[in-house]
Amino acid sequence: MTVGVLSVVGARPQLIKAAMVSSALKRAAVDEMLIHTGQHYDDSMSDVFFRELGLPGAARNLEIGGLSHGAMTGRMIEALEAIIEETNPAVTLVYGDTNSTAAAAIAAVKLHVPVAHVEAGMRSFNRRMPEEINRVITDHLASHHFVTGETPKHHLEAEGIVSGIHVVGDVMRDACETFLPVARARVSLDGRSFAAGAFGLVTLHRPENTDDPAQLRALLDGLARVSEELPLVMPLHPRTKRRLTELGLQLPASVHSVAPVGYLEMLALLDRSSIVITDSGGLQKEAFYVGRPCVTARGETEWTETVDLGWNRLVGADPDAMLLACRDFLAAPPASARDGVYGDGHAADRVAAVLSSVVDPGETSNG
Ligand code: UDP
Repeated sequence: MTVGVLSVVGARPQLIKAAMVSSALKRAAVDEMLIHTGQHYDDSMSDVFFRELGLPGAARNLEIGGLSHGAMTGRMIEALEAIIEETNPAVTLVYGDTNSTAAAAIAAVKLHVPVAHVEAGMRSFNRRMPEEINRVITDHLASHHFVTGETPKHHLEAEGIVSGIHVVGDVMRDACETFLPVARARVSLDGRSFAAGAFGLVTLHRPENTDDPAQLRALLDGLARVSEELPLVMPLHPRTKRRLTELGLQLPASVHSVAPVGYLEMLALLDRSSIVITDSGGLQKEAFYVGRPCVTARGETEWTETVDLGWNRLVGADPDAMLLACRDFLAAPPASARDGVYGDGHAADRVAAVLSSVVDPGETSNG
């Protein structure tokens, strides 16, 4: 068997990105096979995104989730190697910065299959983040680097990666622009206790925040203080839920927690919110796209433009700084222009055009 593009996904944000690129590949008549590693696995973290976003079903689900980093990555490399040998793809497509991303890149290059990386060149310059390790590995193995703008391009160049860089914009911007009107039309939050007025939308799941008990306690303290002034709604990531249970901690009573929601419901929540508090990379950008100020519970961000333009403030796990940032933003929402930052909502079509020429080089040279 020979396939054009072998796409490997595994985690929630990758399903959202892949939904956009898969439909662009289809429009460009590029043959694609989708493999799900199973890194995220239940209905709320995986299946709902297939149902809602028109993502074609995965040809295989490897069901490799819930393991340590080493076990997960190792088992993924082994399983993906067999699939790549069997399918002989023209290119392997990976997204973002998870173990699934790095595992697929390692398996593919060792079989001399070129790797294309969507969201290449992102850096936090914090090597304690597992995601940063996955980014660096993947970028140094990939041949085609799809970047969201000039900043990640410069990061790649600074590391000696100078060819195969395509500035395409952010496929998450495409997703947000495509699905926000759908969310507005389809998702009603009426009847929910938090929907009556303005609220803050919260997500926390980065290991640096959930795995350090002192840091997690400080964040809960910050949320408790903010929620005295503004209702907070928090779709609770499974890792955060597990850590709270393990540590015998509880969310402040005033924080309304819900199970992880599908993308449409998430966009509806974002649309109705007045502020976002998060450590998610994707949500920092979505807040920016929708025009909500974002308070980021991290010491650094890959999405520096959101900070530079005044829409995002980094507060780490400092409860005082969290409260202050929320108060400032609610009193004086940012007003600077957001247009054109991270692309124009058509990144996925640019990715598909490049991949089309990789899969069928004759097509391109013949015009
Ligand atoms: N998201 C979602 N449901 C939720 C929480 C997040 O659909 O309950 C979406 C969010 O809007 C964004 C993506 O998932 O598009 C971000 O994923 P996550 O925060 O897990 O990963 P990161 O972006 O930090 O890598």
